[in-house]
Amino acid sequence: MSEAFERYFAKHGVHFEKKATVTAFRGDDTVTSVELADGRTLPCEMVVAGIGVRPVIEFLQGSVEVDDGVIVNEYLETNVQGIFAAGDIANYPDLIFKKRRRVEHWDNAVSQGQHCARVLMGKREAFRHVPYFFSDVFDLSYEFWGDPADSDQVIYRGSLAGSSFSVWWLRQSVLVAAFVIGRPDEEREIAPQWIESSQRVSAERLGEERTPVAAAKVSTSGE
Ligand SMILES: Cc1cc2nc3c(=O)[nH]c(=O)nc-3n(C[C@H](O)[C@H](O)[C@H](O)COP(=O)(O)OP(=O)(O)OC[C@H]3O[C@@H](n4cnc5c(N)ncnc54)[C@H](O)[C@@H]3O)c2cc1C
Repeated sequence: MSEAFERYFAKHGVHFEKKATVTAFRGDDTVTSVELADGRTLPCEMVVAGIGVRPVIEFLQGSVEVDDGVIVNEYLETNVQGIFAAGDIANYPDLIFKKRRRVEHWDNAVSQGQHCARVLMGKREAFRHVPYFFSDVFDLSYEFWGDPADSDQVIYRGSLAGSSFSVWWLRQSVLVAAFVIGRPDEEREIAPQWIESSQRVSAERLGEERTPVAAAKVSTSGE
């Protein structure tokens, strides 16, 4: 997948300096060049540092429970009655994957905000949501659902040499995550539904490009 993206960026004139270490930024008012550990100097007009973030929670110490964000229960309530947390800052129990997580994506912030509002209005339901994010690179949009962390099998559909492919992560034949870029709507629609319902799938049929994804469903007895 990384190589597919790298090729796409390269096609748009982006050059990657992989495994390079930045040793200095040079310039007076603004950065005009970057020095690398191997002695080279790269001229530049702008620097974007993708170095990650961590939530600022220190000011909350002593009020609500914090630990990599604000700890909430399945209703997104903190340990202090009437105080909720949603979005990037909320460390919540993911009922689908049965683990705590904190998600830094737009969809999570919107969905949890809406969920908080519903609970506040008296609809006391647990937050149950497939982690999801989308993003765009140049003219491509891609989407990702689920959590591939404990997967044991990866299935590809389409061609990673182009810009239309999907990747499906399974754990003991259960779909746990999916990445979709430039694929038929069927794949986008099925991915979150099947992750939500811990759907068992046939890896073999899922990998058959000409067969619709729906055919990969493995029915459990009684269905
Ligand atoms: C560069 C960048 C690119 C991104 N790209 C994507 C993407 O492609 N797809 C995607 O899904 N997500 C993306 N995200 C993540 C997405 O923007 C966040 O997950 C989302 O904005 C989180 O919403 P939030 O409401 O939880 O927090 P925020 O949007 O951070 O809102 C928190 C608000 O609280 C305010 N605030 C902070 N402290 C205080 C205080 N003490 N008192 C009062 N107000 C306070 C802040 O000013 C801010 O307005 C990106 C984020 C960044 C930074």
